[in-house]
Order: sequence, then structure tokens, then C-alpha cells
Amino acid sequence: MEKIWLNNYDPRVPADIDPDRYSSIVDIFEQSIEKYSANVSYINMGKSITFAELDTLSRDFAAYLQNSGLKKGDAVAIMMPNLIQYPVALFGILRAGMTVVNVNPLYTPRELQHQLTDSNAKAIIIVENFACTLSEVIKDTALDIVLLTSLGDMLNPLKKVVTNLVIKHVKKMIPAYNLPHAIKFLKALKQGHSQSYQRPEVTGEDLAFLQYTGGTTGLSKGAMLTHRNIVANLEQTSTILENIVETGKELVVTALPLYHIFALQGNCLTFVKFGCPNLLITNPRDMPGFVAEMAKYPFTVITGVNTLFNGLLNTPGFADLDFSRLKFALGGGAAVQRPVAERWQKTTGLVLLEGYGLTECCPTVTVNPPQLEAYKGSIGMPVPSTDIKLVDEEGNEVPLGEPGEMLVKGPQVMKGYLNRPDATAEMIVDGWLATGDIAICDEDGYFYIVDRKKDMILVSGFNVFPNEIEEVAAMHDDIVEAAAIGVPHEVSGEIVKLVVVRKHENLSEKDVIEHCRIHLTGYKIPKKVEFTDELPKSNVGKILRRELRDK
Ligand code: AMP
Repeated sequence: MEKIWLNNYDPRVPADIDPDRYSSIVDIFEQSIEKYSANVSYINMGKSITFAELDTLSRDFAAYLQNSGLKKGDAVAIMMPNLIQYPVALFGILRAGMTVVNVNPLYTPRELQHQLTDSNAKAIIIVENFACTLSEVIKDTALDIVLLTSLGDMLNPLKKVVTNLVIKHVKKMIPAYNLPHAIKFLKALKQGHSQSYQRPEVTGEDLAFLQYTGGTTGLSKGAMLTHRNIVANLEQTSTILENIVETGKELVVTALPLYHIFALQGNCLTFVKFGCPNLLITNPRDMPGFVAEMAKYPFTVITGVNTLFNGLLNTPGFADLDFSRLKFALGGGAAVQRPVAERWQKTTGLVLLEGYGLTECCPTVTVNPPQLEAYKGSIGMPVPSTDIKLVDEEGNEVPLGEPGEMLVKGPQVMKGYLNRPDATAEMIVDGWLATGDIAICDEDGYFYIVDRKKDMILVSGFNVFPNEIEEVAAMHDDIVEAAAIGVPHEVSGEIVKLVVVRKHENLSEKDVIEHCRIHLTGYKIPKKVEFTDELPKSNVGKILRRELRDK
């Protein structure tokens, strides 16, 4: 397949990012600190910090880590929801030349232990609420330092934290939950403030993140994302964003968790580069609280997954927000559904652009051109310096318009999985990364995801892609959301079952099937419908079809 480039994008962005320009995230961070020091960098729970304050605090944390016996290249975990402490910890770790291991705060002890042991993390910054999970597994980890923080830690104006060295709520060393070596995060910052900081030489080849993925399909693997991978992807997406965003002028709504690569790269790092604040939403499940928070700020950019946009649209008060400044809304991480995208555009006046990516690609692979006038069901086109090919089971490229597994090549493709040479060799062949996603490409070069390889349902030998069925379900006014899965069947091998969250109990199985019959051909029509109060979702809001299947 020929290389296809997005309209109006410059495809000549070098695949190898010029190492003299940016060799690491730390370089980008330092440039922003210099250029935008007085700008606000993060807002959370009504408080904000400037780039200058973020500079001081992250430097203090880097100094603390360096003076605590940790070495360049050591792994340091962060386990917290979206709080101001997150960027302080993140940039502190990176400035110390160490590797960030992002941990989902809702992990069970088993998942947490696997991630900490596999990454060999030497320190962790953790919100106290989750410390009990850690206490169950700490003895089996290599952790030397546990830094405890609490939701309210940064609610005092940060200047006080830095300059007023008497921090009221720092208690003695905390034996809380039987955590050895535990110290308050604020106390560590205070210590670091009076310690020396040596800026290490961080190169493009150094690991920036160990980003764990694939947890729903067995033990998760640590994707090794280098500074160069991340910077390359930042450059790739910036080429597109530069036409839309004004440096220092945007306000970005960040509701997806920062420990997930989508928000980490798309919101946190990208808008640090552009010198703009992230409005951190700590609990996006509290939709009324989320909408109330948005109402307070002149937001201009929002990113999210389909369930988040759907949730906002269904929340009273959302439609009354002032969308006059909104200039960029990006959906990804899972399929954006047409009815949601259309409602979004009707409500906000702005097209919901869809992008596609995965952890192993830092994450962005494709995005739609911002000048798109309406949602078209496509994930867009490859970002600059990215090649895509679609292949059949034998690895041969499929003809245009036919579905095939998407393979990706570009400077954003990870170095591999930590400690998993076999899994890496299976996933990346000759630089081509196998995504497991099945897509088609149209004549204009737009890609469309039809589904995940393993989510495909086989009805009498016909492929049924759950996305299509779910999108049809979403068109029904009385359906809140739905998930399609395959269940075994004597005659056809599998049949389609639809699990539905309905708006009211009047909606029957027959109604749902009749609705599907209008829009779908015979073998795709669900033969069974189950009603439920809630669909199982990952922490970023992706529907976990596998969990439904396992039931
Ligand atoms: P993660 O590594 O958690 O970001 O998950 C990556 C996976 O999310 C991809 O391999 C896709 O299956 C799915 N995904 C991401 N973006 C989209 C999209 N726009 N449409 C459909 N699936 C998507």
C-alpha cells in the first residue's frame, strides 16, 4: 500500500527526531518552563500551579530521589488519580533520569504486585487511600521508598509548600498500613528543596515510561517507551495541533486518567509543550461534579473516550455549558459511536474528531484532519512518519476496501515489552507492530476499524464485528449503552448476544431485536438480549467485552 498522508500535514517530519533539538521529554519540559514560567500548568479542585512552581517542585522531587540512593534508570511507580501531585511526581522522576511506571490506583493486590515486581520499581508515590493494597504486597517487591500523599495535599497554595517549610499536616514517619520506609510526599519535597540536584544526561534511548498494558488478557506487560518514542509521537501530533492550538492560550479538560497513555501523552505532555493548563478531573464518574467543574473554566480542548462523551451528553446541565471557545474535541481509545458523535456536534457545535492509537505506539497512530466537517466513522489517516499496512492471516496485504489486521511502523513504536523477548518478537516483526485491530482503508486513504481480532464473533462462518452491532444499538433512544458478544450455539457455532443498559423497563428483548432487524442483515442480528444495570468497563471507560463473555 502506498504511503498516505493527511491533507495539509507536512509528511516530511523526520522519522528520527533531531537529537540536537529534543532528545528527551526533559528537554521539552525545560523549554516550556523557560518560555511559559508565569502560565498556569495544572488546575485541580480549585487550585492551580504555574509552570515556575511545577519547575521548583519537580526539581525538588528529582533532588530527593537522587539523594535517596536511587540511580539513573531506576523505575519509580506513581499510583494516583488525576491530582496536581501527579505532574510533580512525573516530571520529578523524569528529571532525575529515572523511569516512570504508571499504576492504575484501582488495581487489586495481585495486579499491583505483578506490576511492581515485573518493573522492579524502587520507589512509589501513592495516594493514602490505596495504601492498604500496597501493604498486602510490599514485602514481595523491591521498593525502598514509599511516598504517601493525600487528596488534599496540594490544596494549600503551593508556594507555602515550597517556602514555608513548616508543613502542618506532615506527621511523624508513617507506619500506616504497615508500610516500611514510608514518608509523606510533601516531606520528601521539603527535603529535596534543600538538597543538590544534578541534571543527568537523558538520551533518546533512555526509558521514559514502562507502560503496562494487556491486563484484561492475562498478566499485563510493560511496554518500554523511550524518550525518543514519546518525543517522536509528540512531534507527530503537534504537526496537526499546531494548526489549531495557540501556545499559552488553551485550557484542556483532562478527565481520562493520566496513568493511561492517552491522557498522559495527549493532554499532560502535549499541553506542557504548548504551555497551556490541564484542568484535572479527579473523579470523572461523578458526572454532575465533572460538569460543574467544566462550568467554572473557559475550556477550549477536551479529550475522551466514547463512554465519557456519552456520559457528559446524558448529564443535566452539560448542554447549557458555554462551548463558544471550544476548538478541539478528540475521541479515541475505543470506537467513537456515530450517535454519540452526532449528538456531540449538535450540542457543542464542534465535530468530535476521532483518533486511534495504542499503548505500544505512545499512543497515536491515526487521527482525522481537523478540518473535517462532520463525523465520518473513520479513525482518520496516519500521523506523519507512520506507515500502515493491512494484512490477512498469512501476512499478505489485502486489497483496498477489504478488512485486514493493521500493522504499524514508525518512530513511535515501542522498544519492546520488558522481560518478554518472545512476546516482543511476536508483536514486532521487521519494525512492523501487529495491533490486533482489524481495519479497512477507503479510496481516499481513510482507515476504519472494524474490530479487535479477538472480539470478532463468528456466526456460521460469517464475521460479525461487535462495534457495528453496538453502534446500531446506540441509535435506539431507549438504550443507554450496549455491548455485543458471541455466545456458543449448536448450529451456527456462535450467535450474537447483546447486553443492554436501558433507559426504562418498558424496553423489551423483542423491541431491541426488532430495532436491530431494521439495520442489520440476518446473521448479525442479536438472538439474545440481556438487560443489565451497568456494563463492566476499564478505568478509562472501555467496555470489557471479555468480562461479559467470561460470565
Ligand atoms: P490501549 O493500549 O489501552 O490504549 O488500547 C489500545 C486499543 O484500543 C487498540 O488496539 C484498539 O483496539 C482500541 N482503540 C483505540 N482507539 C480506537 C478507536 N478510535 N476505535 C476503535 N478502537 C480503538
